Amino acid sequence: SPLLPVVGQDLNAPLIHGGQVRYANLDYAASAPALEDVAAHLNEVLPYYASVHRGAGFASQVSTSVYENARKIVANFVGARPDDTVIFTRHTTDSLNLLAGCVQSILTQKGFTEGRSNVHGEVLYLDIEHHANLLPWQALPHRSVVAADSIAATLARVETQLRAGNVLLLAVTGASNVTGEVLPVNELAALAHRYGARIVVDAAQLAPHRRIDLSASGIDYLAFSGHKLYAPFGAGVLVGRSDWLDTGKPHLAGGGAVTEVRLESTRWSDGPARHEAGSPNVLGAATLAKAAATLAALDAQDWHSHEQQLREYLVAGFAAIEGVNVHSLFSDSADYPECGSIGVVNFSITGYDAGLVAAYLSAEHGVGVRDGKFCAHPLLNRLGLPSGSLRASFGVGSRLEDAQRLIEGVSALLRDGLGWDYVVDAGRWVP
Ligand code: PMP
Repeated sequence: SPLLPVVGQDLNAPLIHGGQVRYANLDYAASAPALEDVAAHLNEVLPYYASVHRGAGFASQVSTSVYENARKIVANFVGARPDDTVIFTRHTTDSLNLLAGCVQSILTQKGFTEGRSNVHGEVLYLDIEHHANLLPWQALPHRSVVAADSIAATLARVETQLRAGNVLLLAVTGASNVTGEVLPVNELAALAHRYGARIVVDAAQLAPHRRIDLSASGIDYLAFSGHKLYAPFGAGVLVGRSDWLDTGKPHLAGGGAVTEVRLESTRWSDGPARHEAGSPNVLGAATLAKAAATLAALDAQDWHSHEQQLREYLVAGFAAIEGVNVHSLFSDSADYPECGSIGVVNFSITGYDAGLVAAYLSAEHGVGVRDGKFCAHPLLNRLGLPSGSLRASFGVGSRLEDAQRLIEGVSALLRDGLGWDYVVDAGRWVP
């Protein structure tokens, strides 16, 4: 049974092959279904939906309080420090681009000093990053590190680069969106700080599955998206140390981000307002915060073991089928208590195109998985999967039966073949 109820999972729908199929959503890592209590909260807030911060009307006051309360809930969810800023963005990609803009400003702004010296340096990132945590840094002075086949060796490679000097910011993912493996972000934060660098963690995949504590870990910046956290699309967050954020170029220029505007010059606000010009996504922030509060109330042990059981079941099922290959990065995750894997299994089937398998699983078995290169081209190429692989991913709304259906679908493919012809239409396989 699921750990938490999610919207759109009709457990009573009949499971009929070739007719109405009970859909097994194994694509949570792309976008997770909304929690039922998130949907309920959306309905609660919807009647008071109004412009925030500037209106004196009742609905506007309620909306402002919902929006600012959401900020506090997010700060609690990630254990933010008192001087951290919580900025609502559109999604993780937006959050990381916002931070990159700030880094660019402080690198080019004369006189921005931290301690004794002017800030300078490069951004260091791993080759396993999602493009969202790679492309924004490519526009700045940067270096990259190829992850090794163990966490220990990867940490050593990162340390070598940090020791070489001139690293301003280490940008790493909290969990790989390709393999689901969790990175030792606390150790990476300590390492970055030892060499005078800051760290940003792309928590798009980590936040929906693990507790994160900025105060305890020292992580400087954190980015994640509502739509992977069991809330709807359209809202994300960037949380982190306010000095860079208050100095950086405003993410968007416009109303709400200023304290004073003259025809030729502008004084920008500090705090979140600096980067939140325009009418903000109140419903997005409120639902993201509701999801965060619900996850925060979970018993961590139940949370992790639910996903762990499903993952182990799926991996064991695949291991018993000849021709299925499960892909992962690190051989020594077990040596790192904070690591392991979130609810993701990456796999391929010998002799079958990944897109074809995904289309077959959807059409014949009602199973939704993702195929392709997962916006992580450098990693897929390095893993020898230049035409992509498949990813099954799950979370609090998933059932063992979903994983079972996937195993049965893959077995049926290898036993019976496709059943009918699939052709490529508009770049996708279709029956
Ligand atoms: N980072 C990681 C690790 C991701 O998995 C994703 C989404 N696939 C992103 C960043 C980008 O998230 P969004 O599309 O919500 O901006």
